[in-house]
Amino acid sequence: MALRTLDSLGSLSGKRVIVRCDLNVPLRDGVITDDGRVRASLPTLKALADAGARVIVCSHLGRPDGAPDPQYSLEPVAQRLSELLTVPVAFATDTVGDSARDTVAGLGDGEIAVLENLRFNPGETSKDDATREAFAAELAELGDALVSDGFGVVHRKQASVYDLADLLPSAAGLLIAAELDVLDRLTENPQRPYTVVLGGSKVSDKLGVISHLLPRVDRLLIGGGMLFTFLAAEGHAVASSLLEKDQLETVRGYIAEAKERGVELVLPTDVVVASGFAADADHETVAADAIEQSSFGASGIGLDIGPDTAAVFAQAVRESKTVFWNGPMGVFEFPAFAAGTKAVAQALTEVDGLGVVGGGDSAAAVRQLGFSDDQFGHISTGGGASLEFLEGKKLPGLTVLGWE
Ligand code: ADP
Ligand code: MG
Repeated sequence: MALRTLDSLGSLSGKRVIVRCDLNVPLRDGVITDDGRVRASLPTLKALADAGARVIVCSHLGRPDGAPDPQYSLEPVAQRLSELLTVPVAFATDTVGDSARDTVAGLGDGEIAVLENLRFNPGETSKDDATREAFAAELAELGDALVSDGFGVVHRKQASVYDLADLLPSAAGLLIAAELDVLDRLTENPQRPYTVVLGGSKVSDKLGVISHLLPRVDRLLIGGGMLFTFLAAEGHAVASSLLEKDQLETVRGYIAEAKERGVELVLPTDVVVASGFAADADHETVAADAIEQSSFGASGIGLDIGPDTAAVFAQAVRESKTVFWNGPMGVFEFPAFAAGTKAVAQALTEVDGLGVVGGGDSAAAVRQLGFSDDQFGHISTGGGASLEFLEGKKLPGLTVLGWE
């Protein structure tokens, strides 16, 4: 069965339509620093409002502990949505409580409301099926149909992503459909050379994808936080850099498998090491096998790939016909450690073929570094989700929408 799309829901005029978006934007002091995910949600929301639906937007934001936490409120996101749509957007101060019910009851046809952060409720991410289903049932009471459009969360078996889709007539929104179009091009006969660039900080999450990528790709470039686990696996000391000690054996296995398969696994040859994790930390470039010999000794932290590595990575990216990049090469939020990420981003804009950026922070990084969305083949709103898709996994949030 194919993915159910919006038209499968029939006429939505006057109906209450819950839209599960991924509005998990980066915030600093309550201000949205990258509104890419809000913008990506607009086509579906506009289409539903134009169809006369009463649009009820829900999302998670950050990782609150299953209870209200003002720093993770979706209110600034509702405001941004209102600015971008140039229509008023109502906001409910809870997710399934009195405020949500009143707000939904007050919606006219074609009007839009945002519910407070789904993860203020322990049921959203609970591992216990009954707890999750109970929360999904509360959500279901607010709507007549569900449009699932939070591509960044389709790999999660969570109440609003998975359980709710079984309780209401449900379909995928336009963003999910568009994301899957591009991911299909990456999995079905990608043009070669096919290069994947991995970085970022969710090291153990991302290490797992490597074994599935090795049979499919020609080159794998490793930067970001995970590079240190690779360097350590090769026997180099990494001082106080991010390191997943319990993954060393696994990583050695990947290095061996890459060799066997003839996949070029490219590790950094130089690294920018800092005195601490701070924007103004002292820093210097050292060889990747001499991190502990920097002036900071055992307290040094690797925060970016070095310039030689950046040049090698950029060249490898430029020479490829298909590139998927997930995870910044360094702590790009600090300008002193953004050069590696910038070099890879620049190279990606020069790819003669399909260049895809995936991941919330990676997307934020390219925009923050001054690139515009249309310089890339595609900017995916989902990092983990797109990686799991490329691994060939069945994603629960897509399976419930009829995807096989
Ligand atoms: P994405 O959201 O694109 O999937 P992640 O969430 O895995 O990416 O990682 C993004 C974060 O990784 C950024 O905030 C960046 O600062 C961090 N990062 C990159 N390199 C390092 C490093 N060497 N040490 C610590 N953090 C890093
Ligand atoms: Mg991230």
